[in-house]
Amino acid sequence: MNIQNLIRPVIKALKPYSSARDEFQGNSDAMVFLDANENPYNNGVNRYPDPQQKNVKALLSKIKGIPVKQILLGNGSDEVLDLIFRAFCEPNQDNVISLPPTYGMYEVLANLNAVEIRKVNLSEDDFQPKVDTILAATDAHSKVLFLCSPNNPTGNSFSNGSVLKLLKGFKGLVVIDEAYIDFSTEKSWLTRLEEFPNLVITQTLSKAYGMAGIRLGICYASEEILKVLNTIKPPYNVNELSQKKAIELLNDKDLASVQIKSILEERTRLISDLATISFVSKIYPSDANFILAKVDDATKRYNQLVERGVVVRNRTTQFGCENCLRFTVGTKEENEELIKNLLLISKS
Ligand SMILES: *Cc1c(COP(=O)(O)O)cnc(C)c1O
Repeated sequence: MNIQNLIRPVIKALKPYSSARDEFQGNSDAMVFLDANENPYNNGVNRYPDPQQKNVKALLSKIKGIPVKQILLGNGSDEVLDLIFRAFCEPNQDNVISLPPTYGMYEVLANLNAVEIRKVNLSEDDFQPKVDTILAATDAHSKVLFLCSPNNPTGNSFSNGSVLKLLKGFKGLVVIDEAYIDFSTEKSWLTRLEEFPNLVITQTLSKAYGMAGIRLGICYASEEILKVLNTIKPPYNVNELSQKKAIELLNDKDLASVQIKSILEERTRLISDLATISFVSKIYPSDANFILAKVDDATKRYNQLVERGVVVRNRTTQFGCENCLRFTVGTKEENEELIKNLLLISKS
């Protein structure tokens, strides 16, 4: 596959803005910086942040085993996804494929970028991609296929066989959104980046790593693809405070794994507790930190929970999710509060 042929002509021709911090690449110790019109008085944030976030990437590279050159960071994965649209999808001409029920941002970003979104529903019984139907829905203008695995809001991972067929059969970029991969029993596709030149993987520090507040999304892809995204990304897209906090928490080696372990234990407990609620009729298998469950009347139950101070996600309007609520796995205390209130509601 020739990635160059997928890039929008305007992007190919673009000359990127070169920031002061991009142009000076020498050793930054003991230098006098009079190049960026900053205030010289040190308060910890008076300097522009590193536009290439070298220290954060070095840590991620070590944790994930991927070379720094194959990592790009964004202001949340939502920014990364937006960069992919802007680099590869010609407005009013190209299209992308998404597989409902899934993460809502793919459609929002498609609309924002004036790019047609072709929806091919997941199978209704087990929420798996229908490979042949997906490939039949594509044409020469299909630039990106979004695979969210583990999928939000259903919680399941896509079968490796289906993903493999799509990676081989689709003639554009396959973006695997692995926001929930650290909760999953399935392996990440990161180890197979070399094999598939059209593979783009997004991850985030917002979920398992506990840093939704700093907005740090991660894109792993070939150097060729990242070169394009780097050309168009805003120069200082990840701010200094976010970079510092990410470094601090990523350096705390066992923090995430300890928390993930207890979230997974809580998930098991929450699943068995939910099964005791009379109006819960189905609990879907989860490979993530949330549980999708079918109830008798999702909107009624959602409102009853809100009245009692517990906010969950009502997914009833999504394809295949009629009367479904999505429960994020919280702390032991939070989950007990949820179950206590569900029991009270069921007895009222
Ligand atoms: C939460 C979530 C993200 C994370 O987005 P950020 O912008 O990095 O916070 C990405 N994809 C999916 C499917 C999600 O559910």
